[in-house]
Parts: sequence; structure tokens; C-alpha cells
Amino acid sequence: MTPGTYFLETFGCQMNVLDSQLVEGQLRACGLRPAESPTSADVILFNTCSVRQHAEDKVLSRLGRLAALKRRRPDAIIGVIGCMAERQRESLFVQVPHLDLICGPGELHCLPALLDQVRQRREPVAALAGTQSRRIDRLARSLLEDEIEALDAARDSAASDGVLQAYVRVQRGCDKFCTYCVVPFTRGPERSRPPQAIVAEARRLVDRGCREITLLGQTVNSYLHQDGGQPVGFARLLERVAAIDGLDRLRFVTSFPADWDEDIFRVMRDQPCICPYLHIPAQSGSDRILKAMKRGYTVAEYLKLMDLARKYIPDIALAGDFIVGFCGETDEDFQATLDLVRRVEYKSLFVFKYSPRPGTTADHSRPDDVPSEVKVRRNNELLAVQGAISLRHKQALVSKTVQVLVEGRSKAARRGGPRHARQLVGRTPHDLIAVFDGDQSHVGALVNVQVTAATALTLTGRIASIISPSRSNRLGVVSLPVHEAG
Ligand code: SAM
Ligand code: SF4
Repeated sequence: MTPGTYFLETFGCQMNVLDSQLVEGQLRACGLRPAESPTSADVILFNTCSVRQHAEDKVLSRLGRLAALKRRRPDAIIGVIGCMAERQRESLFVQVPHLDLICGPGELHCLPALLDQVRQRREPVAALAGTQSRRIDRLARSLLEDEIEALDAARDSAASDGVLQAYVRVQRGCDKFCTYCVVPFTRGPERSRPPQAIVAEARRLVDRGCREITLLGQTVNSYLHQDGGQPVGFARLLERVAAIDGLDRLRFVTSFPADWDEDIFRVMRDQPCICPYLHIPAQSGSDRILKAMKRGYTVAEYLKLMDLARKYIPDIALAGDFIVGFCGETDEDFQATLDLVRRVEYKSLFVFKYSPRPGTTADHSRPDDVPSEVKVRRNNELLAVQGAISLRHKQALVSKTVQVLVEGRSKAARRGGPRHARQLVGRTPHDLIAVFDGDQSHVGALVNVQVTAATALTLTGRIASIISPSRSNRLGVVSLPVHEAG
């Protein structure tokens, strides 16, 4: 491949953030260097999300703005990778005539070869998975398809130097087919990665200075593979990763309530490096709506699970996702959601307005009948209820000491405000964001922060003591982007 520069913009979930990091590793290995903006880049890529229409619209608008650039510089390569490529397929070339390349999330290991093809053939190229078989059972599928390891296995360890926090994929795809969701169509069938590969990848990251690992899967607790002929479920996998010497923090997202196994709580309780944090979306507080969404549990079952979580880990921080305005959602259904949120007392919530997705069961069998102003009102009401809960929880921490992994300079410090010039940001094991003053030597360290004030989103404090200094001798320690909910 002819070296040059690339610009990659990422939309969507943590899975996309990880895919983009791995893609960047491949591009750098081919000699490409990052560019500041699309205007100066030879390769311009958008790693896309299809979960809501809004996410796709944003990408189409970015692509539209590149038409003039392509006229000026016909050699620049413009590509759409990820879920939107898989969902819209070749029709994207019709909508966006200046597009050169589309590549689905399961084919990203082919990207360098695709870029070469575009350069040589001067015609648009596509790499898409199409329909993959779900006819054989989950474990057999995982064993058959270990070659999907290609992208993750090629993770460039050297590029991981100085990385403080990292995502590690444990599973691809999803088999749940919640009636509103496009993910099983774009990311294909559920396949777990071999446990040995996951542990080895995590160990390499820790050896290079990584202190916090987040295991990723669409339904991470449904993980199933085998080792030496013995089944390995999520609890056993978690135990193995937690045993890695030098790993300070271990998290995992996203959990699926209907597949929960009590053993996972035991492992969480017994392994000190596993954070007391659980992202376990309910989606609705109404049994009628949960059934229409095909989530596979009732509100009573979900609540029982949350009670069990608190029995094992009394201070656990729970995070959830909710969809408001799903087809047929009445005021009564929405009140039930509010009741659930008040009862569970989440640490944080991600709230989404229902967006019909072509090809999903809900889209072809139920009208999108909740008016958009009602969706907006319910969205705001739910966030307000959660805001009050979050504020109360955070204020209870004022004058207490929390453990923080220092990620870097805060947003305010990066914006250059003189009052915040020394402000750093980090997170507690419960995934609370804390800001406090410090210097570059604190970045990458584990510190105790005494909390002096709190808002619904952030704790403010001062460093009380250093628990363990930074392990990186690099100046800039690389952290994951802040993903904060209401
Ligand atoms: N696999 C995870 C789970 O089931 O919890 C979540 C994956 S999805 C990328 C993230 C969130 O997007 C979901 O939890 C759901 O709340 C939301 N979502 C998915 N499809 C949606 C749709 N059609 N409209 C609005 N929100 C949606
Ligand atoms: Fe989508 Fe449901 Fe799978 Fe989550 S579990 S990715 S919401 S189909």
C-alpha cells in the first residue's frame, strides 16, 4: 500500500471504539500516519453505528460534505466501515456516489487489502459478511469460527505502550433479536472468542502498563467457549482475567438480564480487581412492553436480579439503558418505567428515544405510534428522575475518600480555562467521574481523592494520597473516551 495519511471518525458504542483502535493499528502498520482533519487526509474513514436513524444521518451529512473534496482530490479514498456499511450495503454507493469503499464490522481485518484494491482498480469495493448461519448451536459456531480472531489477534502490542485502559472483545455479534434492534443483522451471529486468546491479549496489555481492562460483548455474560474440552462460561472467564498479575481494575459491558448466572456475582465479590459496577439494561419497566420487545424477562425477574446483585455486592453501582416511546408505550407503561428507575436507584442511565430500524420485527409489525414530542418529554422526565438520584448519591460522598485512576487533564483544563489549568480527571471503581488538581506525574496513578463537592455528573475533590504511582514512563498516557450517561 502507498503510505500517506488517514482520518478516522468513530460513531456509536464501545465496540466501535475498539474496532477503530484495531483498524488504526492496521493502518499504522501499513505506514499511514494520522491526519488532523479529513481535508488533509489521503484515506478518510467513518466507523459507523446503525442503532438509531440519527447516528446514520450524521454520517450521511459528513459524507455529503466530502463531495467537493473528492472533486478537488479524486485520489483521496473515502470509506464507510462498521454497522452502517453492513446494513445499507451497496445501496450506499448509490446514495453517496463519491464513496470508494464499504466494509462491514466482521471484515475489518481485510481493510488494508481493500484500500490497495481501490488504488489499483479505481473502482468502489465492498467487503460484507452477508447472512451468516445461525443454524448450528452457539458453542459449535464459536469453535468453527475462530478465524474471526484475525482483527483482535493482530492487535499491535507496541501501540499499546502507555495505554492506561483498554477494551478487550470477548464476543462478537448477538442472537437475541430484541424486536427493535438492528445489531443482530449488522454484527451477525453470537460467537465467543477462545478464552486463551482473551487472557493472552489482556496479559500483553497489562505487561505494557495497562491498569484497567473492560471486557466487551453485546451480551457479555452469555459468553461460552471451551478449553481442553471443558465448557468455559463468563464466570470462569472473568476469574481467569482477574487473576492476571498487575491488573488493577476489571469491568465488563453489556450484561443481558435473562442470561445471568449467579456464579458471576460470586466471582465479582471474591476478586478484588473486579469493579463493583454492572451495566445491565432493563429497556422498560412495563411487562407488556418488555414482551413486545422480546427481552425474555419480566420486571419482577429483573428486580429480583438487582436485589441479588446488592446481596452479593452491597455497594454495587448499577447502570441501565431504557428506550422511551417504543411502539404502543402508554403513559401507564412509562410510569412503570419511572417506578422501576426509582426502585433500582441506578448510578447512571442511558436513555434513548425509540427509532424504528428497517428489517427489525418491530418495524414491520408495529406502528411507531408515540409522537416525537411525547418521546422527547418522556426522555427528559426520565433523565430528570435519574438526575435527582445521581445527585443524591454523589452528595452522600462529600467529605468521604474515593479511589481514582487518574486518566489525564480534564475537559476544562484542555479548553484552557486559567481556573482549571491543573485540573485532572479520573474514575472511581464505581465508574463515577472525579475532577481534582494535580500535575502530569499523577496521570496514570491510582490515588485517594477526598470529595469536597458533587453535581449529578461529577465529583470534585483533592488528592489525599497516592495509592500507587503511574507505571508509564511516557508523557501522555492514553485513556478511553469518557462515556457518561445521565
Ligand atoms: N446489547 C446491549 C443490550 O442489549 O443491552 C445493547 C446494545 S445497543 C447498541 C445499545 C442500546 O441502544 C440498547 O440497550 C438500547 O437501549 C438502544 N437501542 C437499540 N435499538 C434501538 C432503537 N431502535 N431505538 C432506540 N434505542 C435503541
Ligand atoms: Fe440488540 Fe437486544 Fe442484542 Fe442488545 S441483546 S444487541 S439490544 S438484540
